[in-house]
Amino acid sequence: MSKKWVTVLGSTGSIGQSTLDVVSRNSERYGVFALVAGSNVTQMVADCQRVNPKFACLSDDVANQALTAELNRLKLPTKVIDYRTDLAMACQDSEVDMVMSAIVGAAGLLPTLYAVEAGKIVLLANKESLVMSGQLFIDKVKAHGATLLPIDSEHNAIFQSMPSGIQGHSDQCLHHHGVSKILLTGSGGPFRERPLSTFDDITVAEAVAHPNWSMGQKISVDSATMMNKGLEFIEAKWLFNAEVDDIEVVIHPQSMIHSMVQYVDGSVLAQMGQPDMRTPIAHAMAYPERIDAGVAPLNFSQMKDFSFHAPDFTRYPNLKLAMDACRVGQNATTTINAANEEAVAAFLRGQIRFPDIYCINADTLSALTLTYDASLEGVLACDADARTTAQQLITKRAVDV
Ligand code: NAD
Ligand code: MG
Repeated sequence: MSKKWVTVLGSTGSIGQSTLDVVSRNSERYGVFALVAGSNVTQMVADCQRVNPKFACLSDDVANQALTAELNRLKLPTKVIDYRTDLAMACQDSEVDMVMSAIVGAAGLLPTLYAVEAGKIVLLANKESLVMSGQLFIDKVKAHGATLLPIDSEHNAIFQSMPSGIQGHSDQCLHHHGVSKILLTGSGGPFRERPLSTFDDITVAEAVAHPNWSMGQKISVDSATMMNKGLEFIEAKWLFNAEVDDIEVVIHPQSMIHSMVQYVDGSVLAQMGQPDMRTPIAHAMAYPERIDAGVAPLNFSQMKDFSFHAPDFTRYPNLKLAMDACRVGQNATTTINAANEEAVAAFLRGQIRFPDIYCINADTLSALTLTYDASLEGVLACDADARTTAQQLITKRAVDV
């Protein structure tokens, strides 16, 4: 079997590190073409030593210079490239078979589109890029013959539970294949049972401490507000060609079922496993084969509770906001994605309180007129305007913490 070459975008992050673990466990199958990340020199050097990529690059210029110096000092063969001029090559070179898209937030859009436009296998963790650009993204996937495989655990579970004729085809009619509903599960995050009256006091440390998953800061806060499930709702619409009414959110606190697909005959297919992202990463990297992910099997005799309930929108207003935006259309989803990124960053800086994240998102959405066209320029203009509005609202709301 010839080796497959992988470029990992966001390699120093939580998904990036899990990807490198799967690659290292299966080094006879995978080689690393390029590692790309933000500013973490120490982690990047360690990863270059571990997986020996052909190229490495940090988007922060000062950090990239430090990376060059350190790799030279260690006499490592990896060549350091420039983020602005060489990123397209890292995603599009003819040697590259697949690109893991795991940069966090809107910064992931353009690099992911590079991979799509070169017709690569795109392993999509960066849900924000799809939420931001929806139809444009899916149209490009089709036009360039790219293969889009979901890494988000819920979407990977849905993908696995879909009929094989639909898997990987985002233009099929779900109902023609007997699918009646996508059941998108979520744990409810760390504040599922916390009294609402104490939400003003939620600290950053509490918000980023997810009960079941270990993840980057932004997605951890999104999980606490359940905006993450809202973004995933929009992501599911695009990945599976679903209507808003085809998708139902179900709270499942144990995170053992990662999502389900219901069929017209009453069958429900679920994908289960440990809450460990190496499972969906290994699934997508090897699809349609299966490889070792280093994940322990489930032990059913030790499982105590296994519960499900409907989400409470008073507790999770961001979820409702995102679901409503999905009904309204592309401009609305681009806007809430951008506003939310700004609001979460402000919360992490200690500038606003936890419940303010929703207020910023909702107020940004009502402030914009949403008349942007569906081109990349339109998407980027909508994203930029939403950020400016959100930043103004944040400044007004900012508190001393
Ligand atoms: P993280 O914060 O741990 O890592 C983010 C990575 O992106 C880092 O390598 C960072 O250096 C890089 N980065 C940030 N800004 C950059 C920029 N401007 N240019 C280049 N690189 C930049 O985040 P994560 O938890 O690994 O999440 C990554 C993506 O995967 C997010 O879109 C998230 O929603 C999605 N996702 C994560 C998980 C999870 O379990 N962590 C699950 C599902 C989906
Ligand atoms: Mg998820």
